[in-house]
Amino acid sequence: MTKKLYLDRDGIINEHIPYVGTLERFFWHFEIITIAKYFVEKNYKVIVVTNQSGIERGYYSLFDFYKLSRYMINVFLKNDIEIEVRACPHLPEKNCFYRKPNIGMINDIRDKEDIFIGDKEIDMLTAKNGNIKKRWLISKKETSKHASKIYKCHKELLLELGIYEKFLKNNYIY
Ligand SMILES: [Zn+2]
Repeated sequence: MTKKLYLDRDGIINEHIPYVGTLERFFWHFEIITIAKYFVEKNYKVIVVTNQSGIERGYYSLFDFYKLSRYMINVFLKNDIEIEVRACPHLPEKNCFYRKPNIGMINDIRDKEDIFIGDKEIDMLTAKNGNIKKRWLISKKETSKHASKIYKCHKELLLELGIYEKFLKNNYIY
């Protein structure tokens, strides 16, 4: 069985600011590269799952989203990490099966070691709906009923995994 590390994008891979559709609004949380690598070495597959209603709202195009995703995928690749990106472009009111907190984007055969890392309660709810046991929230302010662990920041998770020193020593390619 393949173990999966599901990552929310905004707030986990990059800073959470509203409607990130272009590179100018994409600011890395580089800690996630170290975290992803740690799990890749433990045979996890990395899957990004992101709600992108900004597309249907017309804030940015599907092409903008592809361009940004290709950039992000390439940065991970340069650091020897293969990722898959899944997204839903629809408005919340359409209640699309693929839009979090629905489970369309995480509808894989479940492994008990699967992990979901997100910065919002909606991510934790998605993970719960998808029967993922390891639901890790990284947020300074968000509280959660559904998270199995809460970290104030990426650094806290790095420290718990014992890879903070590794993060400091890494030379990231981007
Ligand atoms: Zn959708």
